[in-house]
Amino acid sequence: MPEVATHCPYCALQCGMTLRLTGTGRVEVGTRDFPTNRGGLCQKGWTAAELLDHPDRLTTPLLHGEPVSWPVALDFVATRIRELQATHGRDAVAVFGGGGLTNEKGYALGKFARVVLGTRYVDYNGRFCMSSAAAAGIRAFGIDRGLPFPLSDLGKADTLLLAGANVAETMPPLGRYLTEQTEAGGTLIVIDPRATPTARRAGLHLQPTPGTDLAVALGLLHVVIAEGYVDRGYVAARTTGWAEVARRAAAWWPARVERLSGVPAADLEAAAHALGRAARAVIVTGRGAEQHTKGTDTVSAFINLALALGLPGRPGSGYGCLTGQGNGQGGREHGQKADQLPGYRRIDDPAARAHVAGVWGVAPDDLPGPGVSAAELLDRLGTPDGPKALLVFGSNPVVSAPRAARVADRLRALDLLVVADFLRSETAALADVVLPTAQWAEEDGTMTNLEGRVLRRRALCEPPSGVGTDLGVLAELGTRLAHGARIDADPRAVFDELRRASAGGPADYSGVTWERIDAEDGVFWPCPTDTHRGTPRLFIDTFPTPDGRARFVPVDHRAPAEEPCPDFPLYLTTGRVLAQYQSGTQTRRVAPLVAAAPRAFVELHPDLAATLSIVDGEPVRVVSRRGAAELPARVVDTIRPDTLFAPFHWPGVNALTNDALDPTSRMPEFKVCAARVEKL
Ligand code: SF4
Repeated sequence: MPEVATHCPYCALQCGMTLRLTGTGRVEVGTRDFPTNRGGLCQKGWTAAELLDHPDRLTTPLLHGEPVSWPVALDFVATRIRELQATHGRDAVAVFGGGGLTNEKGYALGKFARVVLGTRYVDYNGRFCMSSAAAAGIRAFGIDRGLPFPLSDLGKADTLLLAGANVAETMPPLGRYLTEQTEAGGTLIVIDPRATPTARRAGLHLQPTPGTDLAVALGLLHVVIAEGYVDRGYVAARTTGWAEVARRAAAWWPARVERLSGVPAADLEAAAHALGRAARAVIVTGRGAEQHTKGTDTVSAFINLALALGLPGRPGSGYGCLTGQGNGQGGREHGQKADQLPGYRRIDDPAARAHVAGVWGVAPDDLPGPGVSAAELLDRLGTPDGPKALLVFGSNPVVSAPRAARVADRLRALDLLVVADFLRSETAALADVVLPTAQWAEEDGTMTNLEGRVLRRRALCEPPSGVGTDLGVLAELGTRLAHGARIDADPRAVFDELRRASAGGPADYSGVTWERIDAEDGVFWPCPTDTHRGTPRLFIDTFPTPDGRARFVPVDHRAPAEEPCPDFPLYLTTGRVLAQYQSGTQTRRVAPLVAAAPRAFVELHPDLAATLSIVDGEPVRVVSRRGAAELPARVVDTIRPDTLFAPFHWPGVNALTNDALDPTSRMPEFKVCAARVEKL
């Protein structure tokens, strides 16, 4: 039986797995010992192969809903692009990518946008996931790699602080590191407005009001300073900017933080002591802390705390963030972001433009400048000055974007919407042209996991008849549009080009080859030469900043974009459940996952439910300033009485969320808005 060693198609843990083709043509998932998941898989990974022969699988291109041949579909798209650009200019066409695309696809998509289309409008859904941590990492360390150390360090930490990360549900195999850590006597601290399954494993759970993580981080730093835990030698030798950060933290004494966040001062002090006394301490942020209009500043506050304690670069200690989407890390490195070129280069850097233009065989001046972030791009579609056409790869913004009803309106206002996908997502349902493309088990490529480890995705089988590939679509459209450089349809050729384009950049892949990945269980970037061993641990001796020092960034707490008011007296926060993934296009079609998590719901506290005479299971209406959703109530005592929680994997929930943006990362404020709940 043919068998390949590959990785799960879903989250950024990218669990190692085997795929086996049985005699009956079915694909079976099996475990394999990989350094991160060590044989573990969650329910999503175990059932991932069910989509390969799913009856909803798209197997022919659709033009206005009717099946057509590939040449007809591609000719139509190319002709419409040519017409729209002739009338409205090259920025009339936009591209929207995804954090689940392979490195090769993300790279090719950025190149396609800049060189074939010549548009500045390209961005991706990772903007909804990682951008705040990425921005804060760059401004502190000069580089953004989710975990700058191997994942296994989590299990060895004397104190592990998880701020807004619910790994027990989002990445269950990672839970073994929490077990390892606590069984060895370590202290696990979780900051989360909900008593999630992760928080319930913690020795100390800080349960702040949504939108107050930044104040909690400032309060922790205040106690660390007051109790003398600051690593003065490290601060003096390896950082800049300490004095102003220390000055601002002085104003965040525990009682003040308690009044603002609801976190008892004693718990705050206990957490600071556990961090300060630990020989090895790790601080990790997740979406809970990051998806705010002040997400970048909140992450900076946690990084400031880590720097004060002397953690980054100390073996066994550090700060990291947990990337969410499968290739959320690689997807933000190679050019599908509006402001970026491959190798994590900035598109407004003349040297970067010259290098990448040289690889692409075009003049630097022919490359467009920076575009706008995902939410801004979606908001601009179909407006008089905005793009008239959008090409979507590996994303479903109708469900995953904030204020989703408005996003659907913007997509309907387009002259041309093209979606490449393997299932008819809610976004594909609005498309003029749908192009059926291959799934993970049918394609080769690379992914970069949450540790910055570049991995191989390996094909087990061919896509069904009639199904193309994302790279093939880009190559064919490139040929038809006949602008500039060629896009290769072969993933290995694309990766070799990506290596050259990334050479010398912060995310340098030039020494990574598919063969090395096979032989070494993945290669950590940066890896600048064939003989370089890769970089599992960053910052050991220096930081990639101009002076080699990490930068403290002064930040202050501020309120969320929306606070509760008489009309909307509650906080609404959103998140994930174990059995579903992102916008649910895939997992809402897998029977065991549907059985485990069949529909959206809203969690509310028993006290709130009693006040409104709502009983468990009863349908209720949740209303925000942007829309309403009818959801069954789940009455649970794991949530604060002033807070509602709803998972966003189903259409409707993001109709409620706020599209207010972080000024630095352009991250929407998914994690907190004002809402009310009504009995129906
Ligand atoms: Fe897949 Fe993530 Fe589950 Fe691992 S934890 S099996 S990568 S979804």
